[in-house]
Amino acid sequence: MRVPVTAYVGLGANLGEPAAALARACAALAALPGTTLAARSSLWRSAPVDAGGPDYLNAVAQLRTTLTAPALLAALQAIEQAGGRTRPHPNAPRTLDLDLLLYGDAAIASPRLTVPHPRWRERAFVLRPLQELAPQLVGAAMLDAVAAQRCERA
Ligand code: ADP
Ligand code: MG
Repeated sequence: MRVPVTAYVGLGANLGEPAAALARACAALAALPGTTLAARSSLWRSAPVDAGGPDYLNAVAQLRTTLTAPALLAALQAIEQAGGRTRPHPNAPRTLDLDLLLYGDAAIASPRLTVPHPRWRERAFVLRPLQELAPQLVGAAMLDAVAAQRCERA
Protein backbone atom coordinates (compact mmCIF):
# COMPACT_ATOMS: atom_id res chain seq x y z
CA MET A 1 0.00 0.00 0.00
CA ARG A 2 1.50 3.33 -1.05
CA VAL A 3 1.45 6.26 1.32
CA PRO A 4 -0.63 9.17 -0.03
CA VAL A 5 1.31 12.15 -1.37
CA THR A 6 0.10 15.76 -1.42
CA ALA A 7 0.09 17.01 -5.00
CA TYR A 8 -0.92 20.38 -6.46
CA VAL A 9 -2.57 20.64 -9.87
CA GLY A 10 -2.93 23.90 -11.80
CA LEU A 11 -6.17 24.24 -13.78
CA GLY A 12 -6.73 26.71 -16.61
CA ALA A 13 -9.19 27.31 -19.42
CA ASN A 14 -9.95 30.19 -21.78
CA LEU A 15 -12.29 28.70 -24.39
CA GLY A 16 -15.86 27.46 -24.20
CA GLU A 17 -17.26 27.74 -20.68
CA PRO A 18 -14.16 27.93 -18.48
CA ALA A 19 -15.99 27.94 -15.13
CA ALA A 20 -17.94 24.82 -16.05
CA ALA A 21 -14.81 23.16 -17.42
CA LEU A 22 -12.90 23.80 -14.18
CA ALA A 23 -15.80 22.53 -12.06
CA ARG A 24 -16.00 19.34 -14.14
CA ALA A 25 -12.25 18.90 -13.92
CA CYS A 26 -12.33 19.16 -10.12
CA ALA A 27 -15.06 16.52 -10.00
CA ALA A 28 -12.94 14.30 -12.25
CA LEU A 29 -9.89 14.82 -10.02
CA ALA A 30 -11.93 13.85 -6.95
CA ALA A 31 -13.04 10.68 -8.74
CA LEU A 32 -9.53 9.45 -9.59
CA PRO A 33 -8.56 6.14 -8.00
CA GLY A 34 -6.66 6.43 -4.73
CA THR A 35 -7.21 10.18 -4.74
CA THR A 36 -9.08 12.72 -2.66
CA LEU A 37 -9.58 16.37 -3.57
CA ALA A 38 -8.35 17.90 -0.31
CA ALA A 39 -8.87 21.56 -1.24
CA ARG A 40 -9.62 23.83 -4.14
CA SER A 41 -8.62 27.49 -4.50
CA SER A 42 -10.82 30.37 -5.55
CA LEU A 43 -11.17 31.08 -9.26
CA TRP A 44 -8.75 33.66 -10.66
CA ARG A 45 -8.89 35.54 -13.96
CA SER A 46 -5.57 36.07 -15.79
CA ALA A 47 -4.28 37.47 -19.06
CA PRO A 48 -2.87 34.90 -21.51
CA VAL A 49 0.93 34.58 -21.27
CA ASP A 50 2.83 34.86 -24.58
CA ALA A 51 -0.44 34.50 -26.53
CA GLY A 52 -3.59 36.29 -27.53
CA GLY A 53 -7.13 35.14 -26.94
CA PRO A 54 -9.64 35.49 -24.12
CA ASP A 55 -8.63 35.78 -20.47
CA TYR A 56 -8.02 32.56 -18.60
CA LEU A 57 -9.87 31.27 -15.60
CA ASN A 58 -7.40 29.53 -13.27
CA ALA A 59 -7.44 27.58 -10.03
CA VAL A 60 -5.25 25.18 -8.08
CA ALA A 61 -6.38 21.87 -6.58
CA GLN A 62 -4.71 20.09 -3.67
CA LEU A 63 -4.86 16.32 -3.96
CA ARG A 64 -3.96 13.49 -1.64
CA THR A 65 -3.14 10.59 -3.91
CA THR A 66 -1.55 7.16 -3.99
CA LEU A 67 -1.11 7.45 -7.78
CA THR A 68 2.49 7.72 -8.92
CA ALA A 69 3.46 11.01 -10.57
CA PRO A 70 3.48 9.50 -14.10
CA ALA A 71 0.10 7.87 -13.47
CA LEU A 72 -1.27 11.17 -12.19
CA LEU A 73 0.03 13.00 -15.30
CA ALA A 74 -1.62 10.39 -17.53
CA ALA A 75 -4.87 10.86 -15.61
CA LEU A 76 -4.63 14.66 -15.99
CA GLN A 77 -4.14 14.27 -19.74
CA ALA A 78 -7.14 11.96 -19.96
CA ILE A 79 -9.27 14.55 -18.14
CA GLU A 80 -8.00 17.23 -20.57
CA GLN A 81 -9.01 15.03 -23.51
CA ALA A 82 -12.45 14.46 -22.01
CA GLY A 83 -12.73 18.26 -21.68
CA GLY A 84 -12.20 18.64 -25.43
CA ARG A 85 -8.54 19.72 -25.27
CA THR A 86 -6.69 19.92 -28.59
CA ARG A 87 -3.07 21.06 -29.06
CA PRO A 88 -2.97 22.94 -32.42
CA HIS A 89 0.20 24.87 -31.38
CA PRO A 90 2.10 25.87 -28.24
CA ASN A 91 0.21 28.31 -25.98
CA ALA A 92 -2.94 27.91 -28.08
CA PRO A 93 -6.19 28.81 -26.30
CA ARG A 94 -7.55 25.73 -24.55
CA THR A 95 -10.77 24.39 -23.13
CA LEU A 96 -8.82 22.79 -20.29
CA ASP A 97 -5.17 22.68 -19.17
CA LEU A 98 -4.11 20.61 -16.17
CA ASP A 99 -0.50 20.94 -15.02
CA LEU A 100 1.13 18.90 -12.28
CA LEU A 101 2.77 21.66 -10.24
CA LEU A 102 4.15 19.79 -7.25
CA TYR A 103 4.12 16.14 -6.21
CA GLY A 104 5.14 15.96 -2.58
CA ASP A 105 8.78 17.01 -2.49
CA ALA A 106 9.63 14.92 -5.56
CA ALA A 107 12.04 16.22 -8.20
CA ILE A 108 11.45 14.51 -11.55
CA ALA A 109 13.05 15.24 -14.92
CA SER A 110 11.90 12.79 -17.56
CA PRO A 111 11.08 13.53 -21.20
CA ARG A 112 7.34 13.62 -20.48
CA LEU A 113 7.25 14.95 -16.96
CA THR A 114 9.11 17.66 -15.06
CA VAL A 115 8.22 18.19 -11.40
CA PRO A 116 8.12 20.74 -9.90
CA HIS A 117 6.54 22.24 -13.01
CA PRO A 118 9.32 24.27 -14.71
CA ARG A 119 7.38 27.54 -14.73
CA TRP A 120 5.30 27.41 -11.54
CA ARG A 121 7.29 30.14 -9.79
CA GLU A 122 6.99 32.51 -12.78
CA ARG A 123 3.22 32.63 -13.01
CA ALA A 124 0.89 34.76 -10.94
CA PHE A 125 -2.03 32.48 -11.94
CA VAL A 126 -0.26 29.61 -10.17
CA LEU A 127 1.21 31.45 -7.17
CA ARG A 128 -1.91 33.38 -6.12
CA PRO A 129 -4.29 30.40 -5.96
CA LEU A 130 -1.52 28.20 -4.53
CA GLN A 131 -0.96 30.74 -1.77
CA GLU A 132 -4.58 30.26 -0.67
CA LEU A 133 -3.98 26.54 -0.16
CA ALA A 134 -0.33 26.40 0.87
CA PRO A 135 0.93 29.81 2.05
CA GLN A 136 4.13 28.17 3.32
CA LEU A 137 5.08 27.40 -0.31
CA VAL A 138 4.63 30.94 -1.65
CA GLY A 139 6.88 33.62 -0.20
CA ALA A 140 6.32 37.38 -0.46
CA ALA A 141 9.35 37.74 -2.76
CA MET A 142 7.84 35.20 -5.16
CA LEU A 143 4.59 37.19 -5.30
CA ASP A 144 6.47 40.46 -5.76
CA ALA A 145 8.25 38.98 -8.77
CA VAL A 146 4.93 38.34 -10.57
CA ALA A 147 3.08 41.43 -9.37
CA ALA A 148 3.05 42.95 -12.88
CA GLN A 149 1.03 40.04 -14.31
CA ARG A 150 -2.68 40.73 -14.53
CA CYS A 151 -4.39 38.21 -12.30
CA GLU A 152 -7.43 38.96 -10.16
CA ARG A 153 -9.97 36.96 -8.23
CA ALA A 154 -12.81 36.05 -10.58
P1 ADP B 1 1.61 23.95 -21.33
O1 ADP B 1 0.78 23.52 -20.17
O2 ADP B 1 3.08 24.12 -20.97
O3 ADP B 1 1.07 25.18 -22.02
P2 ADP B 1 0.81 21.43 -22.55
O4 ADP B 1 -0.30 21.36 -21.57
O5 ADP B 1 0.46 21.22 -24.00
O6 ADP B 1 1.59 22.82 -22.46
O7 ADP B 1 1.93 20.38 -22.09
C1 ADP B 1 2.94 19.98 -22.95
C2 ADP B 1 3.67 18.76 -22.40
O8 ADP B 1 4.27 19.06 -21.15
C3 ADP B 1 2.81 17.54 -22.09
O9 ADP B 1 2.76 16.69 -23.19
C4 ADP B 1 3.53 16.87 -20.90
O10 ADP B 1 4.09 15.61 -21.24
C5 ADP B 1 4.63 17.84 -20.57
N1 ADP B 1 4.85 18.04 -19.13
C6 ADP B 1 6.08 17.99 -18.54
N2 ADP B 1 5.99 18.24 -17.22
C7 ADP B 1 4.67 18.45 -16.97
C8 ADP B 1 3.96 18.77 -15.76
N3 ADP B 1 4.59 18.90 -14.58
N4 ADP B 1 2.62 18.93 -15.86
C9 ADP B 1 2.00 18.81 -17.07
N5 ADP B 1 2.60 18.53 -18.23
C10 ADP B 1 3.94 18.34 -18.18
MG1 MG C 1 -0.33 21.83 -19.61
